[in-house]
Amino acid sequence: MKLCSACLLGIRCTWDGKDRYKNKKVIELSKKEVLIPICPEQLGGLPTPRIPQEIQNGTGDDVLNGKCKVLNKEGKDVTVYFIRGAREVLKIAKLLGIKEFIAKQKSPSCGCGKTYDGTFTGTLIKGDGVTTALLKKHGIKVISEENL
Ligand code: SF4
Repeated sequence: MKLCSACLLGIRCTWDGKDRYKNKKVIELSKKEVLIPICPEQLGGLPTPRIPQEIQNGTGDDVLNGKCKVLNKEGKDVTVYFIRGAREVLKIAKLLGIKEFIAKQKSPSCGCGKTYDGTFTGTLIKGDGVTTALLKKHGIKVISEENL
């Protein structure tokens, strides 16, 4: 059993109210083993659809350490929702004894190794999203959908 970003499994939870049911490797894996869909942004209390959000000048680790914020495209501080969502996902992982998470790439929550730089220009930087960073801190293996 593994956790998986819900949008990759066809749940319409993304900022634009759609899914990201496109990665054939994830779809194949979901037919062979139990993948538990989680969406940290919804679990953190954000609506769907929602205004796009990016970590500002930093990574998920920086957000957890209080060094930077997550803002939406209108400039509203949504950091609290991202931290809350990450903690809820960790709670689910502990509840079910899950040790792996298959993560949607580039998301400010689920991104694994790549995330946007906060300028809303599509520019990527090295780093994890907030949920990925918290799960890694707690010994959960995070696998980007790109590396399945
Ligand atoms: S927070 Fe994660 S699961 Fe939710 S829409 Fe974004 S990438 Fe998908």
